[in-house]
Amino acid sequence: MKSLIARTFIQGALAVVVGSAHLSAEGFDRSVRAAPNFEPAIPRDEQDKAAEAKIAALTQKTGKRPNILWIVVDDMGYGDPGCYGGGAAIGAATPNMDKLAAGGLKLTSCYSQHTCTPTRSAILTGRLPVRTGLTRPILAGDTITKNPWDGEHSLAALLSEAGYYTLLTGKWHIGEPKGMRPHDVGFDEYYGYYPAQKEISQSKDERRYPDLVMNPERMKDFESIKPEDHLTHGFKGGETKQLTQIKTTEDMGRADKVLADFTISKIKEAAKGEKPFFIEHCFMKVHCDNFPNPDLAPLSAARYYYKEAIAEVDLHVGELIKALEEAGVAENTFVFFTSDNGPQMDGWPDSGYTPFRGAKGTTFEGGPRIPGIAYWPGMISPGRQSDGLFDLMDLFGVALNLGAVSTDKLPSDKYYDFIDQTSFLLIDDAESKREAIYYWWGSTLMACRMKEYKAHIKVVLPQSTHMHIDFATIQDVGLAPWLYNLYIDPKEQMPVGHRRNAWLATLGQKLKQHGATFKKFPAKNIGL
Ligand code: CA
Repeated sequence: MKSLIARTFIQGALAVVVGSAHLSAEGFDRSVRAAPNFEPAIPRDEQDKAAEAKIAALTQKTGKRPNILWIVVDDMGYGDPGCYGGGAAIGAATPNMDKLAAGGLKLTSCYSQHTCTPTRSAILTGRLPVRTGLTRPILAGDTITKNPWDGEHSLAALLSEAGYYTLLTGKWHIGEPKGMRPHDVGFDEYYGYYPAQKEISQSKDERRYPDLVMNPERMKDFESIKPEDHLTHGFKGGETKQLTQIKTTEDMGRADKVLADFTISKIKEAAKGEKPFFIEHCFMKVHCDNFPNPDLAPLSAARYYYKEAIAEVDLHVGELIKALEEAGVAENTFVFFTSDNGPQMDGWPDSGYTPFRGAKGTTFEGGPRIPGIAYWPGMISPGRQSDGLFDLMDLFGVALNLGAVSTDKLPSDKYYDFIDQTSFLLIDDAESKREAIYYWWGSTLMACRMKEYKAHIKVVLPQSTHMHIDFATIQDVGLAPWLYNLYIDPKEQMPVGHRRNAWLATLGQKLKQHGATFKKFPAKNIGL
């Protein structure tokens, strides 16, 4: 890691440009570091105080800390929801997602990591995947050298200790072995399927995978490495039960209805209890391979499986919000709706839509720029929209704030990348406290964005149209970093060149500062 970052800056194009610039070390950087192991943030004391007062007033009224409901869709593109330019215009209306956006804050520069596992682990640890070692999905047959969760303080554990009931429903994808399951790493309860849909359907779908599904001998051998295809119900410190098995593609199609029904029943149950709740509802859809729910279809104008999946997710989003309302906790529940990464184009047409360049697996905007909607009646004004930078890891900081968990609980020998963005989300006209987004691809640092400028020092280039995962290479840029102004060139096609020294110097400095954190706080290697 050290050598990699050092090499980037000694030999890399940024070092050349930065070396020739006569600018202050800070450049346009307004951020301040509160502690050596915390990501620097832009100080916004007034909005922070206003948010604090708002939360205090609510907790006084309700007598408990606010509930938290995260809704995470798998592989949904930035352009899929109607409120982000898709919806009915591309064959699958999303009235419930649109209603959330209209009733809350729509973020237009919200970022995930480039694939599933990295994002899911980052939001629960507040740390970049490269720091925890969870740099890519752990797939069936993978062997890792140590449990990445050892020594991590998961958000679920912190909130659980602070008196929350914590539940994860749906897809997990951060390890199936004992010690790595949701109910091993802090969640009080888990109800869902560990892997992604395609890992399950590869042994069910004879049309896509006939060489395996139609070959009994291979199917027998596959048993030893196949991912868990049972619905799993686990309890912290208690038993883990295997419930129904997905045996057919129809069963796969029904999975999200089963999961939504469970979360709805738990919201209603938890609302009556003493404890506030933290529920992370993770859809199986719309990750390929999508199969329509035979009990609900058809739901979309397009009828394609992906579009049916988007429409079904939207249906359940509406049901989850309705459950909060019926349970009388909508005004005491912070809802955040998002996707864990951009669309996976390799499986087209079973894939989403992004207006940006690239897709899942790349660090062009199509990979990590995703929908992000914060919704909280009475606490977040309807109709807000912001292009302020927001990293999904910031949800870690927001949740600690809402749960009144002090950051003193976090170890000082670990670096934390989240920023507490509570005030940005809650206060009208508030601004983001995040100065930079860092784009990583596994353990390779690729790019950095500040304001509307983004500099790439490495790029993922597909070798065939849309093949961003299955047929792509990582390449160094040349003498100058690929610098884009995302406001005039959102598709990252027209680099603005090395003459913009001010931006390159600032971004270069920011990347150096970021790289230096790894010298002080070494990354974990789990053998992935
Ligand atoms: Ca994903």
